[in-house]
Amino acid sequence: MHHYDVIVVGLGTAGSATCMTLAQRGVSVLGIDAFHPPHPLGSHHGESRSVRRAYLEGTAYLPMALRAWDLWRKLEKDAGERLLVTTPNLTIGPPEGPAVSGFLASAQAGAISHDLLTAAEIRRRWPPLSPPIQFSAGLEKEAGIVFPETCIRVFLAMAETAGARLQVDERVAGWTATSGGVEVRTSLGRYTAGRLLIAAGSYAGRLLGVAGAMLTPKRVPVHWVTPPDTAAYQLGQFPVNFWQVPMAETAGTRNEYREFYSLPAIKSGGRVKAAFHNQLADGDTDNPSPAVSTAEQTAMRAMLERFLPTLSHRPMTSDTCMYTLTPDDHFVLGPLPHNENVFTVALAGHGFKFAPVLGETLADLLEGLIPTIDVGFFSPQRFVRRG
Ligand SMILES: Cc1cc2nc3c(=O)[nH]c(=O)nc-3n(C[C@H](O)[C@H](O)[C@H](O)COP(=O)(O)OP(=O)(O)OC[C@H]3O[C@@H](n4cnc5c(N)ncnc54)[C@H](O)[C@@H]3O)c2cc1C
Repeated sequence: MHHYDVIVVGLGTAGSATCMTLAQRGVSVLGIDAFHPPHPLGSHHGESRSVRRAYLEGTAYLPMALRAWDLWRKLEKDAGERLLVTTPNLTIGPPEGPAVSGFLASAQAGAISHDLLTAAEIRRRWPPLSPPIQFSAGLEKEAGIVFPETCIRVFLAMAETAGARLQVDERVAGWTATSGGVEVRTSLGRYTAGRLLIAAGSYAGRLLGVAGAMLTPKRVPVHWVTPPDTAAYQLGQFPVNFWQVPMAETAGTRNEYREFYSLPAIKSGGRVKAAFHNQLADGDTDNPSPAVSTAEQTAMRAMLERFLPTLSHRPMTSDTCMYTLTPDDHFVLGPLPHNENVFTVALAGHGFKFAPVLGETLADLLEGLIPTIDVGFFSPQRFVRRG
């Protein structure tokens, strides 16, 4: 049985980037995926992912957000591929709401170039956007969009070039701790390693044993809307726009805010992508239910009617993607409680933008190094019940 320094389960967003970084450092690494990434059965498909640095989810993400931007640019150079296109990014909602105030706190803490715009200014600059007068928006002037399928192809190609062994269409069934590390059982064989990273996204729960209880897969309907004309909705013209709408604006919901976003059409003649970000149904990775119902489309059309009215009656098709939520909506990243050789990562529905820095940070942890960026805040230990 071949022994590796590290086995990585899952060659999606976090796993592919980690394999690349480990292999480039000369670590012997085996990466295994149940499917053939990039693929539409996890969390990384769908043409575009927004990248921002004024991180409304908390200033704890700032060092990672800043480093990720630099690493995306470096990766582009190394790969000779266009991966990150800059675009303005708007966080829209009531000025006192957590999104706009979180945006401002991060923008100020990170000295990130930004403006605070009124609803009237937003409407004037981007006519498809129609915020109510009491809303404002944090504008991150230089944010971006990355192309997830291309990025994962690049991570995997660079990992292989650097010497990683990558096996696809091979499902990991389980693992056991051994005296020297771990033994991993798959649909095709058994492998041993000093350390294991479980980067299986929305499927990770079942591989984590009791620790899997901290993860909840969520099914995300994604709507693709044909805009009335291409220019105003295309990357370069149309900003990434994230909306946090108070409950009173969407009667009948239980959460305090409903959140949704839309992203520009990537190519000429392309479609705008729109999805809700919270109040999502639980996902079932055994029965993924990719069909999106008319009711789910109607819910999105109602949101568009209010806030992007020129899109609300346009042709729409829909598919689904998966989030892996944690109890506090923050990442999980680090060694499992009670097993220092087994690490995991879960990205709570907002992790793609960090892929290269996750690769770097997880590689540090798997090599037993102290990561340059402090990720203690994301440790799985925070969900361990204290007796
Ligand atoms: C609709 C949508 C929009 C999003 N928009 C953004 C955005 O704009 N910006 C942003 O930063 N983030 C965004 N995200 C979140 C981001 O895409 C995810 O956080 C990220 O892709 C998760 O990466 P992952 O590595 O955990 O999972 P994945 O990329 O899904 O990788 C997990 C891999 O594990 C494999 N696997 C699972 N089980 C096994 C097994 N038993 N054996 C072997 N392999 C296995 C799977 O096949 C898969 O390839 C979005 C997500 C969705 C769904």
